Amino acid sequence: MPDLASTRLAAHEMAARLRAGSVSSRELTEAHLAAAEAGNHALNAWLVIDRDAALAAAAAADARIAAARADGSAALAALHPLCGVPVGLKDLVTVSGGQCTAGSRILDGYVAPFDAHVTERLRDAGAVIAGKLNMDEFAMGSSTEHSAYGPTANPWDLERVPGGSSGGSAAAVAARHVPLAIGTDTGGSIRQPAALCGIVGLKPTYGRVSRYGIVAFASSLDQVGPLARDARDAALLLHAIAGRDRRDATSAPVPVPEELLALPASDDEAAASLRGVRLGLPREYFVAGMEPGVEARVRDAVAAFEAAGATIVDVSLPHTEYGLAAYYIVAPAEASANLARYDGVRYGHAVRGGDVLGSYLASRGTGFGPEVKRRIMLGTYALSAGYYDAYYLKAQKVRTLIKGDFDTAFAAGVDALVAPTSPFVAWPLGAKLADPVAMYLSDACTLPVNLAGLPGISVPCGLSDGLPVGLQLIGPAWSEARLLALARAYEGVTAGAPWRRLEPPGLVAIDPAGPTPARRAIALPGGHHR
Ligand code: GLN
Repeated sequence: MPDLASTRLAAHEMAARLRAGSVSSRELTEAHLAAAEAGNHALNAWLVIDRDAALAAAAAADARIAAARADGSAALAALHPLCGVPVGLKDLVTVSGGQCTAGSRILDGYVAPFDAHVTERLRDAGAVIAGKLNMDEFAMGSSTEHSAYGPTANPWDLERVPGGSSGGSAAAVAARHVPLAIGTDTGGSIRQPAALCGIVGLKPTYGRVSRYGIVAFASSLDQVGPLARDARDAALLLHAIAGRDRRDATSAPVPVPEELLALPASDDEAAASLRGVRLGLPREYFVAGMEPGVEARVRDAVAAFEAAGATIVDVSLPHTEYGLAAYYIVAPAEASANLARYDGVRYGHAVRGGDVLGSYLASRGTGFGPEVKRRIMLGTYALSAGYYDAYYLKAQKVRTLIKGDFDTAFAAGVDALVAPTSPFVAWPLGAKLADPVAMYLSDACTLPVNLAGLPGISVPCGLSDGLPVGLQLIGPAWSEARLLALARAYEGVTAGAPWRRLEPPGLVAIDPAGPTPARRAIALPGGHHR
């Protein structure tokens, strides 16, 4: 059994040791693969752990680092910090020659013929792709219970959800199977699972990261971003994947800030940067139904910012309450169009049903799960003749009002907004499965940010009932470096807090022949999973 101690390192610590020659990428990769292989039955976070490809990438990274070392310190410094560092990908990012299920049966058997932009960028950096991570089917969900490949468990409590839809990514990072993972966020799917698993998750500005090679859910809302255990690591991963790509017309020609590679190492230096910062506290984000423990932790965090020299101003984002309704028109409408391509001919799962229409209906009828069918029906209805004006057009107008609320707040001179990420901590598996609207409510604080195209980050801010709570920071477009610096400052301010040292319990022995703990939990009365 390889030494698992290195799985406790942050990616930036791995980068320093790789350069110093005190560890090899092979050793790091072996340790992380071993952790993932040993822990995956308990979590069901990974759909594929790609040992052979990971070890080949590690060998290539070690060779690159050795060659750079021979060329001198400038060559070593020019390597990307992620060279040799293991990374997991949500299973909607294509990797040439590999599976890309998007958590759906309808993509079962599909083999991607090309690399996504983010995959290419990670390969260029020399990162080690360790495998593909579980997710809600087509990223529709907030709990990873809508995966056709079984639910993922939360490493803090195996009978609770990890959040979603990037629940596999968040669980794998929290459980130290990888220091970093890629997720996507359409309405909260990076930030909310990061919050529920006690890690950092950043949704970049719309257009910051190319969506080329990402299975589409709602194209005007989807963004790719990092999940990590601290702000510095999230910044390194964002740096590797961000930037203009001709193959995605919505990817913006905005330079990638080099500050992402230079967040302060010192807690005191980071904390000192808070003096003079103005943070807005949007009153509408303390939504009805929010758990008191969540609200208390978020208010503690706000007090910590203030004590460190930030000014807190009350702000109002008056159209927040319409965000959920607008999102659940716009996102299903776009999804219904995007998912029309799964016809049983071109991709994966195919069922023959007599004539062409019969095969189409049989393939889609058996290939899509219930939540995806619900979204396709909602979206098709909202776009249909006679209802388009009443629903879709109205929702787009509301979207403009929501964006206007943020513009007004930032124009009034606040640097960023502070808010809860999720109104709840991780809930028991199965608890919200039978009530889609209860599930949708868990994104009330994240989806306005997608509707406005803005960046948002969730950082851990303590525990409630022993479970992680996430603090959300929202900034103007292209302010990722600023948000990460604020997140780093908050880490500095709270460096001495006892909760900072708490982490998910270690591996528990799970009989690999039996059902995963999450499957067992959902099969309890009240659950209705396939
Ligand atoms: N939970 C939201 C939904 O189900 C958001 C999902 C996401 O961000 N991909 O649509």
